[in-house]
Amino acid sequence: AALSKTQEVDIKGGWNVGDPVPYAALAKVFSLIEATTKRLEKTALLTAFFLLVIQRTGKGDTTSLLQAVYLCINRLCPDYVGIELGIGESLLIKAISESTGRSLASIKADLKVEGDLGLVAKNSKNSQKTIFKPKPLTLPFVFSNLKEIALSSGNSSQSKKVSIVQKLLAACQDQEAKYIVRSLEGKLRIGNAERTVLVALAHAFVLAEQERANKRLNPDKLAARLEGSVSIVKSVYSELPSYDLVVPALLEVGIDKLQDKCKLTPGVPLKPMLAKPTKAIGELLDRFENKRFTCEYKYDGERAQVHKLEDGTVSVFSRNSEDMSKKYPDLTEQLPHCIKDITKSFVLDAEAVAIDKDTGKLMPFQELSKRKRKDVKVEDIQVRVCLFAFDLLYVNGEPLLHKPLVERRQLLREHFQLVPGEFNFAKSSDGETTDEIQAFLEESVKDGCEGLMVKMLEGDASYYQPSRRSVNWLKLKKDYLAGVGDSLDLVVVGGYYGKGKRTNVYGAFLLACYDADAEEYQTICKIGTGFSEEALQAHYETLKPLEMTKVRGDVKVGGAKPDVWFEPKVVWEVLTADLSLSPIYTAAQGLVEDRGISLRFPRFIRVRDDKSANDATGPEQIAEMYERQALAQKGGKKKKGDA
Ligand code: ATP
Repeated sequence: AALSKTQEVDIKGGWNVGDPVPYAALAKVFSLIEATTKRLEKTALLTAFFLLVIQRTGKGDTTSLLQAVYLCINRLCPDYVGIELGIGESLLIKAISESTGRSLASIKADLKVEGDLGLVAKNSKNSQKTIFKPKPLTLPFVFSNLKEIALSSGNSSQSKKVSIVQKLLAACQDQEAKYIVRSLEGKLRIGNAERTVLVALAHAFVLAEQERANKRLNPDKLAARLEGSVSIVKSVYSELPSYDLVVPALLEVGIDKLQDKCKLTPGVPLKPMLAKPTKAIGELLDRFENKRFTCEYKYDGERAQVHKLEDGTVSVFSRNSEDMSKKYPDLTEQLPHCIKDITKSFVLDAEAVAIDKDTGKLMPFQELSKRKRKDVKVEDIQVRVCLFAFDLLYVNGEPLLHKPLVERRQLLREHFQLVPGEFNFAKSSDGETTDEIQAFLEESVKDGCEGLMVKMLEGDASYYQPSRRSVNWLKLKKDYLAGVGDSLDLVVVGGYYGKGKRTNVYGAFLLACYDADAEEYQTICKIGTGFSEEALQAHYETLKPLEMTKVRGDVKVGGAKPDVWFEPKVVWEVLTADLSLSPIYTAAQGLVEDRGISLRFPRFIRVRDDKSANDATGPEQIAEMYERQALAQKGGKKKKGDA
């Protein structure tokens, strides 16, 4: 519905049924999406494009729609495969220069003004005189070349990448260079969240179905059908987050049978269920009143989703669906010891925790984070890791997400066995009184844990909810009780040069939270105390390559004025003593008051390299923390003052 007639003609121009999807059509849709800030319009535009792809590609062609979906979220394959786009600025500048004949210096100068290499590439292309009109780019051609670039590694990979980019740029017309370069940089900047893509996919299938049947549903029925389809597609994707599997299945069986076809499958990591913070045992008891719940130790390690396929393949995935099998070869080696004979395939949710070999005592997370992320050799490992299993999501061909936790836990115990120092079940207590919970919390802290996870045990509310921060899982950390509150995960978006001894590194940093609905980073505080010289040096080395010539469009800056801007990528866990309203920062603006919220006396805890920028704390959580604090203060009066 969003495509006006002229736009439709513009997109379809020369695109006949059965033709490969023209890349120009996608570029046109991207520019329309970029031009609007309205979420509904973005969704409708994407829906219209997917609908065209469904209708114009031949029967049996599942790749065109799949590639279209990937290019819209700027990925080439599912997360866990780990093939990423993201070529450095200088390599791209070189390719633009070589393909347009412009000097490096003039391209760099333009970039300083525009702050967007995509735009610079487009302008450079469009001012170039060409004798022959190049052969139009197709979506499959662009996709396969992007993939080739992402996959090329080794000595000659730089020149190979430059030559592929050059070849692509040579064939670009109109807007195409802008989006190809942005794709290559790993930032499309059109504000297309994964959620939008899922909604648009569902909508496109409903509309295609309606057109095929040549029968228009009345508006109420259509609205209900669209809503129902979105919930099916979202729920399927949360269990099986792989477009490689979901898109062909949609084309094959349609929406209504999708759930039968696509289920949780070992080998495809699902997004983990997460917990909400709770500050007091009283609050927890209110929430779970008259319900059966359980308290488990909240281990201080790294989330590990362990998958075993029938053929014996074992993989360990991180919280972010990254394959960590190369980081934890010891885990994979240990695993067979704890699996019982009856257990053929499974998906296990667990925490990998460092332990002292001799005493068996748990060690803090930092011990594990010192490990390399790849190519760890078992013989070089100093600190051992023990797996603490707390959930079983799939066993012997059967997904268990829709079974109550009591049953999942029972199955977990039936299918696995304790191996001291290697595998254990998360320690739990089903105590229900404040005193019992308090005692268990203290015990957990004494044993080296962060606190407790409190989970609903029975009924629908205890089902496993992938990718949700759910109220049916509450975390009770020791820090909360001291009145400090939960930590926040924030993205480093800017840097301030150091003073005195620290002029060669950044001395302070600008942090931001992430608003997933608005798809923007909102600034929240400057942090600059408590870093050692070595830490500052290490941060400098990580952040320097992320420096950007201009602030990115999706950072809501407010009055912050850092010396340099960074590509939002690095996530830090930060604690704060206090939150306050601020005229400078933009976090949670409009949620509590017109002003934003800022952290006072923020304290760096650790780098969260298991989280991506989109996993950072959201503005609602910050507003919630602020309001709780306001409530805790006398008479619930809000506190004034700026950071
Ligand atoms: P945090 O900084 O608290 O780890 P998070 O955003 O990674 O936050 P939360 O939902 O807040 O995740 O807390 C759940 C995390 O705690 C899980 O991701 C897991 O790594 C860890 N954990 C440790 N023990 C348990 C347990 N018994 N049950 C569930 N999660 C546990």
